[in-house]
Parts: sequence; C-alpha cells; structure tokens
Amino acid sequence: MNACGNSGWALSAPVILTCTVCIGVLLLARWVTRQRYFPGRESFIVLHLASLWWLLAASLEMTAQGASCKVFWATMAWPGILTVPTFWAIFLWQYVNSVRQPLPLRSALGLAVVPLLIWLMALSNPWHGLFYGAGTAPLSDELGAPIRYQHGPLFYAAAAYVYLFMTFCMGVVLRAAIVSYGVHRRHYLAFVFVTAVPWAANVSYVVFGWMLFGFDPTPFSFAFTLVAFAWLIVGVRLFDLLPVARHLLLDALLDPVLVVDAQLRVIEANPAALKLAGLRSGWQGRKLLDWPILGADLQQLLSQPVHSEQDRLLTLANSARYFEVRVRAIERVTQRGTLVLGQMLYLRDVTQRHLSELKLAEALALSEERLRTISNLHEQLQEQALCDPLTGLYNRRYLDEFFARELAIAQRERTPISLALIDLDHFKRLNDEHGHLEGDDVLKGVAQHLLENLRSSDAVFRIGGEEFLLILPRADAHEARTRLETICRELAAHPLPTRGGARYVTLSAGLALWPEQGLALDELLQVADAALYRAKHAGRNRVCSLAESS
Ligand code: GH3
Ligand code: MG
Ligand code: MG
Repeated sequence: MNACGNSGWALSAPVILTCTVCIGVLLLARWVTRQRYFPGRESFIVLHLASLWWLLAASLEMTAQGASCKVFWATMAWPGILTVPTFWAIFLWQYVNSVRQPLPLRSALGLAVVPLLIWLMALSNPWHGLFYGAGTAPLSDELGAPIRYQHGPLFYAAAAYVYLFMTFCMGVVLRAAIVSYGVHRRHYLAFVFVTAVPWAANVSYVVFGWMLFGFDPTPFSFAFTLVAFAWLIVGVRLFDLLPVARHLLLDALLDPVLVVDAQLRVIEANPAALKLAGLRSGWQGRKLLDWPILGADLQQLLSQPVHSEQDRLLTLANSARYFEVRVRAIERVTQRGTLVLGQMLYLRDVTQRHLSELKLAEALALSEERLRTISNLHEQLQEQALCDPLTGLYNRRYLDEFFARELAIAQRERTPISLALIDLDHFKRLNDEHGHLEGDDVLKGVAQHLLENLRSSDAVFRIGGEEFLLILPRADAHEARTRLETICRELAAHPLPTRGGARYVTLSAGLALWPEQGLALDELLQVADAALYRAKHAGRNRVCSLAESS
C-alpha cells in the first residue's frame, strides 16, 4: 500500500468500463445463486468471485497513476488470476460428470496452497525480483501510462501452473464433446468454444503482447466466458437438463437403484436404496459386499455368469422382502473394444407379487387336493350306488350295464352266457330262529362263498333279500350246471360263521341259457325264475333248468 501512498488516481473510460464489467460479474454471480441447482454451482460462483477480484485489481491498476502502485495492484491480482483457472477446472469437472457433492474443504484448502505461495512470491518481488524483472517499467513517461512487465522465472512458473489448469479444462470439455451425442455434443462443443476464448486472449497477450486498455485481456475474456456459460447453463438449461432430470427421476423412484463400478464399489445410490440399507452418508465408494442388508446377496448375484441383460429374483435373507434385480452393464465402446465401466442394479420390490403368487400356488394346491377328494368320493359314491352295502356284491343297478356289455361280446364271439338265479332255502326260518343279525351274517357268508367260486369274467349280483344272480359268460348249460352244483354242494357241506355260531344253509338255483332260452335279460330272468321255482318244488338244495325234462 505504501507504493500507492503518494500515487494519484485517475478515472478513465477503460476504468469505468472495467468497473461496469465488475458490477456485471457481481450481478451474474447473484443471479446464478438464485437459479435452480446445477452440478458445480458452488465452484461456478467461486469462479465469479475470483474473476471479480482479478478485474477489480485490474481496474485499480488502471486507476493508479504511479508505476509502483500499478505494479502493486498487478501483484494483488494474482489470487484472482490463479483461482480462476483452478475453479474453472473444478467447475467443468463437476458439471460434465454431474458431481453433485461440493468440493470437500480439505481439497479446496489443498488447491489453495500453490496459489498462496505464488502470491507470496509476487508480493515479495521487490526483494528478489524473480517475478517481475528490473525492466518492468511504464510504456511511456506519461503519468498513469500502462506498465510493460518484464517477466521473471517465477512469473513463468505461475503461468505454467495456470496453463496446466486451462489445459485440463480444455481436455475435460473436449472429452465430453467426443463421448456425447446429439444435443449434448452440440452443447459441449459450445463449451469448447467458450473455453477457447480465455486461451486465445491469454496467448495473444503473452505471445503477441496484445492488450485491452493497455492491459492483459484475459480477465475480460473470462468475464465474457462467465456470461456465455451462465447463459448456456441457466439460460438454455439444455446442457444440464437431462442429467438433472435423470437425477430427479432416480430420486423420485420408489425402487432402489445402485450403480457399481468395475471393482464393485457403490458409486451411486438413490434415496430408496439408501433407505433400504439404512445409510445416510459415507457410502460412496464403499464396497458392495459391505453394503448393509443386501450387499452380500447382490454381490453373489453379480458373481453368477451373465449371458445377457436379465432379471434375477433376489430374496433378502434377513427380511421377508423379495426383489427382482435388473442388472445392466454400463459400457463404453472404444477402439480397443467394449470397456465395462460398471453396472446399474435396479431392484424392483416384488414382495407383494411374490407373496400373492405363493398364496395362489397354495390355493391351487388346496383346490387340486379338494378336487382329488371330490373325485375319489364321487368314485366311491358311484361304486356304492352299484354295490350292495351288506355283502359288497353288485346290485341290480349294475346288472343291466354288465349284461349289455357281456351280450355284445357274446354276440361278437358267438359264445353262450349262462345265468343262475339263486334263492336261499328257508331263510325266513333261519331269521326267525336266530334273528336278523345272524341272518345278515349268513348272507355275507353266502356272498363270500359265491365270490370264491367265480372266474374273473363272471359276476354275481344281490338282486333281492336272499336272492342272487350269477352271470357266467362263455359257460354253456353243462358247464353252468356243473359249477352251480359244486357251489350248491359245498355251501350245504360247510357251515357259515355267524355271530351266534356256525350255521348251515342251502340254496336252490334256476339256470337260463343265452341265446337258447331267451335273448333279453328279462326273458332270461323269467326262465331262471321258473327253473328256480322248479328247484324249490323238487325239494330245494339243488340246481334246476327248464331245458331238462325232470
Ligand atoms: P324258501 O325256501 O321258499 O325261499 O323259503 P324262505 O323262507 O327263504 O322264503 P322267502 O324266500 O319268501 O323268504 C325270504 C326271507 O328272507 C324273508 C326275509 O325275512 C328274509 N330276508 C330278506 N332280506 C333279508 C335281509 O336282508 N336280512 C335278513 N336277515 N333276512 C332277510
Ligand atoms: Mg326268496
Ligand atoms: Mg328263500
């Protein structure tokens, strides 16, 4: 400040213009703070403030009349000069990569070290002269004439530092323009163009000595650049609209979404994913395996071989939740082939659907089981309807069906059918003497006896109280008689067990033969009945047929 102690101040048109630019930058910064968030906004605002510093120092340098005072303000510009490219680079990086977290304080402090050192070097120039050389002097003898600086090695070191960041800026926007498409590519190209302006201004100043108001045009070019960027970002909004929209979409999604890098570290997660894992902060970069609740399962899922993009059902082990996981590789096609950068995991909560499916399967199994029971019951009922409950023999209802079938076979094969109508002898008496229950036992015993003497093609029916009908397909009159006589004889010879003791019973049987003695069942039954009547009259315990003369 001493340098400016006895220096005059003069307000010139360029100074007024520079101050106007300063006010413009300030207003721009204020306007940006009020706009909707975009990635890197904080860095963008710092960038405004740094260029404001630079411009203010420049305007003070212009206003000051004394040469040493001018040099002093030139020195004071350095924090601005160095901060502008640094935050320019940070802003572009955050913006292009949609980094929404502000720069950590530690990194900001780290990045301030070199600019601070350079500033100290500039401030201490009067002692070492390594920043501005001894040849630094006004362009003319006129009061307030601009200074022609002779640059020392420290100045070039500072310039190198600035160029390093500016090169980085150019690299970032160029890369973004190359890898993007359509609207994005056009906007990144606009970024490239705008980034090139300070380059051009600086190179023309350093290399060709081109000046604006006798001054380095770079800060003015930065002011232009700021306006251009602000317009591109906030005014047009196309540039950040899609990433922002994507973020909004992810944030609004009720389903968890995670993005993992090639080393399976989680680099992005939406609020639904964080809620599921019970995480709030410190999760970025954490290994998927260490991610609470679902990390281990997801890791295992990802380790399975994938043939194509596919959905896989994930069951969370420690909670009754089911997720359908859609895995999508994030790839970049390079000249050397496809590079897998990471994977996006989209988890769809299908708990409700899954539980409904389980319930449905359960209900289906139950109804199938019921259906089986019903059809079993139905079969039983049908059988019961055709069977006599006391003896288990077929009843009359089945007789017509059975006979019709056998008749068809007999007609086709030209074989006979024999019928035997059986009636127990003096059964009424047995009932009277021993009771109905014993009578029932005898009926069961007789049924058993008849069944034991049947062939597989034969059938026996209980057609009345103590009356039975035997149908013997393919048995002629002789065979029928022989077999019936055996049955009759053996029944008479062996007592039947009953609850009251063994009881003897005899039977009488009347035979009928198809087709000789009748063609229809009724006809044959009448013949058999008549034969039975004959057997009863002949003394019972015998087998008779109308065909015989006796
Ligand atoms: P017959 O030698 O002339 O045939 O003399 P029967 O006593 O057997 O005379 P009938 O055939 O007319 O008598 C039938 C008797 O069979 C009448 C009834 O008491 C008896 N009965 C009919 N159904 C059943 C039954 O389901 N259980 C019992 N225990 N007895 C029955
Ligand atoms: Mg009878
Ligand atoms: Mg009888």
